[in-house]
Amino acid sequence: MTTFLATEDVVALTRRLGIEQTLRQMEAYIKADFLRWEAFDKTARVASHSDIGVIELMPAADHELYAFKYVNGHPSNPQVGLPTVMAFGALAEVSTGKPLLLSELTLTTALRTAATSALAARVLARPQARVMALIGNGSQSEFQALAFHYLLGIDTIRLYDVDPGATAKLRLNLAQVPGLTLVACASAAEAAQGADIITTVTADKTNAIILDASMIEPGMHINAVGGDCPGKTELAADILLGATTFVEFEPQSRIEGEIQQMPADYTVQPLWEVLAGKRAGRSRTDEITVFDSVGFALEDYAALRFLHDQAQAHGLGVKLEVVPDLADPKNLFGEALGAASASAAPAGALAA
Ligand code: NAD
Repeated sequence: MTTFLATEDVVALTRRLGIEQTLRQMEAYIKADFLRWEAFDKTARVASHSDIGVIELMPAADHELYAFKYVNGHPSNPQVGLPTVMAFGALAEVSTGKPLLLSELTLTTALRTAATSALAARVLARPQARVMALIGNGSQSEFQALAFHYLLGIDTIRLYDVDPGATAKLRLNLAQVPGLTLVACASAAEAAQGADIITTVTADKTNAIILDASMIEPGMHINAVGGDCPGKTELAADILLGATTFVEFEPQSRIEGEIQQMPADYTVQPLWEVLAGKRAGRSRTDEITVFDSVGFALEDYAALRFLHDQAQAHGLGVKLEVVPDLADPKNLFGEALGAASASAAPAGALAA
């Protein structure tokens, strides 16, 4: 039987652990899997593009577990009452192919993306960073804000969105968080002023310039989350020219990330090597660092592994017969349909 976790189950789990613990544990699972980088079968995700969006499949596997995520990105979805990003996915046993877990991943994607942003900023931002600009205040934004507050000690967040309603929603959602000051700004430039970290998490299917080089000060860390698709970027290319850029899985980032704007010989640093201590993260206080986040399947593998462990430990979700449970594994026909089905048509079937 396969465990099925609906949105309500992941909500219940997040409430039971608390959002801070959920983010901390998610970060630990993601880090542990980045540290096993070489054990993974890795591939850039498979994308199916339309004029207004994309649907993607994201597989990752090691010798024990296979994971995939289905995810879409449709920036105009809120206009028809749907989230921009929706996802679900599965975890299976490599030794048999048996599906162990089928889960919602919309809420989980927001949690894992925020946990990955914090994991990267831990090694790339200045340790004394306390102020973050958060540009784009939609579905992902509260998760980003809380990951940086709880995991990295950010205490002031300067907000900007072209939609003032999105900023108002964020301020209402996070008004009760102790020790977190939220400041609404009139432009991206105003939000960026004096920040230690800038997170861009906007949605628009275009090569946007959310940040240009005039807004960037020495020593800033840029957590660029929203540019994650061909023709969908947030940073002006001259920012990248003056920065050290870190990526998840380079073959995918070259297609989807901010670096799609750069020539093939533009050098990037693999995040996993920094996490593994194989190379330096930030090397100077005045260095400008960019985490060119696009979202890599390994992060979803880690998130599904976390959910599966939690489901087993706390008996979460329901058991579903996603694949047939057979006493005789060669008798699919007999056990599923019965010998009688081979000859007898149900009464009225032909007439219908
Ligand atoms: P959303 O539609 O809920 O929110 C996006 C917000 O961006 C909206 O409030 C919109 O008004 C704002 N925006 C658009 N253009 C802007 C601009 N020029 N300046 C300021 N604000 C602007 O989307 P979401 O679910 O929050 O996702 C945000 C982005 O993050 C999407 O592009 C999505 O594809 C991406 N994403 C990336 C990852 C990753 O791992 N890197 C994971 C999840 C989502």
